[in-house]
Amino acid sequence: MIYADNAATTRLSATALAAMLPYLTEQYGNPSSLYTLGQTAATALAQARETVARCLHCRPEEIVFTSGGSEADNQAILSAARWGKRQGKTHIISTAFEHHAVLHTLQKLEKEGFTVTLLDVHADGRITPQQVEAAITQDTCLVTVMYANNEIGTIQPIGEIGAICRARKVPFHTDAVQAAGHLAIDVGAEQIDMLSLSAHKFHGPKGVGALYVRKGVPLLPLIEGGAQERRKRAGTENVAGIVGLAAALQTACDHLEANAAKVTALRDKLIDGLAAIPHAALNGDRDHRLPGNVNVCFEGIEGESLLLLLDDRGICASSGSACTSGSLDPSHVLLAIGRPHEVAHGSLRLSLCEENTEAEVDTMLREIPKVVEYLRNMSPVWRELQKGARDYVIQ
Ligand SMILES: *Cc1c(COP(=O)(O)O)cnc(C)c1O
Repeated sequence: MIYADNAATTRLSATALAAMLPYLTEQYGNPSSLYTLGQTAATALAQARETVARCLHCRPEEIVFTSGGSEADNQAILSAARWGKRQGKTHIISTAFEHHAVLHTLQKLEKEGFTVTLLDVHADGRITPQQVEAAITQDTCLVTVMYANNEIGTIQPIGEIGAICRARKVPFHTDAVQAAGHLAIDVGAEQIDMLSLSAHKFHGPKGVGALYVRKGVPLLPLIEGGAQERRKRAGTENVAGIVGLAAALQTACDHLEANAAKVTALRDKLIDGLAAIPHAALNGDRDHRLPGNVNVCFEGIEGESLLLLLDDRGICASSGSACTSGSLDPSHVLLAIGRPHEVAHGSLRLSLCEENTEAEVDTMLREIPKVVEYLRNMSPVWRELQKGARDYVIQ
């Protein structure tokens, strides 16, 4: 099997598993308990917090552990909105191609009377700092822009957006779930106020994430209860998960450059090979792009059929995001960069990690063109395109 869906989730690393095992077995104490068994767990929690803080270049007290990226996004946004409302500010700026954890939270706030400006994304899959600057008003209580997109992999100018928000005194949150463990992040240098990450996107376990909140930025709890996480997130801590998150992030940060170089080379080979297929086009900017992300549209085919045929050949890939496959709506990300519906339906995302090999890339480059041709030969749309009864969108 070739696993090329690392943007959906990743394999748990052996290092993370080994770090977790004691806390799933003998070390089962509650970190809030005062006896030694509890304090062993508390120490592990404190060490994990220090590790995450070192990787992001912040202080341990600025890290709140959550149940994943979605919870971190929800808490950051809802907290900033509630805090803003207390000051009479009800305007939020974001982009049209955020993850649903952000977009659906913003839709909920709109129903509660907030005004949301979704910045248009350019055809290259990026927004500009100037767009953010121009959208800020006296009423703005939050800017939330994702670090890197989960479908097309494009990386946003986060440091420049951070500088603008800091100068205008507007809190800035970034969903860095696709970036953490894959790109060098420095929350201080990039002037980020809040940042979400999730362990299972960098070989950690599922169901655990973290929210960085800069000291001095208020954070209201999403979940009420005990005094865990300095009263910012109630509930007995997922000790094993948090330890696994920290171990995986540490490994990722230790090997960041080497992994990026290896994965980028595989990615570029894949992009070049797939772009050579007639009437195929890369989605998103080629340079400002996550090392492992390949996303291509093929004219005249359905992404869903492509995925099923690739699965028959042992290739795990995705069309749009995992959250949207299963529905027939085309990806909001591809629509946001201006792909028409019929082309957005024919998209393929391959997301690689450092465990993928060149031999796997060669296999994919052998199999995918065959499958595309097979599907096109069965497609009435393709026949019309070939006869000239309809114009190609992708030349
Ligand atoms: C996966 C993902 C999320 C959600 O994270 P979970 O830990 O699965 O809740 C949020 N944002 C982005 C960009 C993602 O890729």
